[in-house]
Amino acid sequence: NLSDKLDNALHLLKGHGQITEVNVAETLKEVRRALVDADVNYKIAKTFTDTVKEKALGQNVLKTLKPGDLMVKIVKDELTELMGGDAEGLDLSGHPSIILMSGLQGSGKTTFSGKLANFLKKKKAKNPLLVAGDVYRPAAIDQLHVVGEQIDVEVFSDKEEKNPVKISERAIAHAKSNGFDVVIIDTAGRLAIDEVLMKEISSIHHTVKPNETLFVVDAMTGQDAVNTAKAFNDVLDYDGVVLTKLDGDTRGGAAISIKSVVDKPLKFIGTGEKMEALDVFHPSRMADRILGMGDVVSLVERAQEQYDEEEARKMQKKIAKNKFGFDDFLKQIQQVKKMGNMKDLMGMIPGAGKMMKNVDIDDDAFKGIEAIINSMTPEERQNPKLFNASRKRRIAKGSGTSVQEVNQLLKQFGQMSKMMKMMQGGGGKQLMQMMNQ
Ligand code: GDP
Ligand code: MG
Repeated sequence: NLSDKLDNALHLLKGHGQITEVNVAETLKEVRRALVDADVNYKIAKTFTDTVKEKALGQNVLKTLKPGDLMVKIVKDELTELMGGDAEGLDLSGHPSIILMSGLQGSGKTTFSGKLANFLKKKKAKNPLLVAGDVYRPAAIDQLHVVGEQIDVEVFSDKEEKNPVKISERAIAHAKSNGFDVVIIDTAGRLAIDEVLMKEISSIHHTVKPNETLFVVDAMTGQDAVNTAKAFNDVLDYDGVVLTKLDGDTRGGAAISIKSVVDKPLKFIGTGEKMEALDVFHPSRMADRILGMGDVVSLVERAQEQYDEEEARKMQKKIAKNKFGFDDFLKQIQQVKKMGNMKDLMGMIPGAGKMMKNVDIDDDAFKGIEAIINSMTPEERQNPKLFNASRKRRIAKGSGTSVQEVNQLLKQFGQMSKMMKMMQGGGGKQLMQMMNQ
């Protein structure tokens, strides 16, 4: 993928003690190839590397102490610039503020509508209303209701009303008289750009006059994403772009191309199917991610948001008193799962992305563990000393695992409890010893 290729290209540079103009050029050729492979338009990639080269030579890279590091910095800064400089927020000044979704079918509009409502509610203390403007398929309306229930946000819909403009108008009136301060209108998409779709979205746009019109696009569609972004922009002149499905192995090239072609800010990125899998777009973090340095800041932010401090204090007390049991373990697993896809999280840790490439970690990794704990009695969960052969057999049977797997979990749990006790007792040194064994 793009990160690896850029990584390799820049490694080329870092490897050389002595950098010459020739290998700067070679490296930049590699960088360009990596960008083009990741769906960045050739012209954009070429301009990009030309600029980097100019800057590198201008700053006399060859004469500095650590030319490789400086090159990486220049590449990073340029990438950041290319994706839009500083992060831009949403216009929430309306009474209510109206946010309109646009994009093709399957791009992730409905999912993002939910994520955004959840984000505004939690982070901005807003009271959002979701509007089911995809009126053609009853299933689409139901889908938005499911999303609304998950995040505890009201959904305005009417299965009898077949005109999305009217639904939107009624929803806004409803919001005004019921104290909602943000109205998020989910709309229908089609599999490809067509006139009917464009007419419909532009008539909603024209009527409701949104504060923010967002274009939602699937990052996995590569070069197509750029064409779609352009077509929608020609009609709607939207305010920002949301790039979805940037989890897993998705290439980051779309972020670079779209920004260059339509010159609209990227505002959010979707990194998974769950309601929490949303990040505010930060060009410099995205550049880090593309360069394989890991998006540590986003990771920390997400962890903080998900981590219930109250819960953490309770756990700590239990650990201190040696009362940490399997129920607590289960809770911690659930906590980790809530943070999003495992692979996705690991990918944000610098260096881990590479390490994880050949390891298939996903939420399923926890399934066996959860099943085993679920098959334990409450007493067993509190007291690991109870386990004898017959109990283990019973648990293996009940959880559809093997005695071996049960044993493995018990062993892991034992080690973990030991480790936690050491950390608690300030036994950092002991811990290091243990980990080095
Ligand atoms: P819409 O047709 O534009 O409303 O798209 P949906 O919101 O229904 O999303 C289409 C599919 O993409 C669904 O299966 C979603 O769960 C999935 N999806 C949406 N956003 C993301 C994302 O950021 N990551 C991943 N992996 N899947 C997503
Ligand atoms: Mg939808």
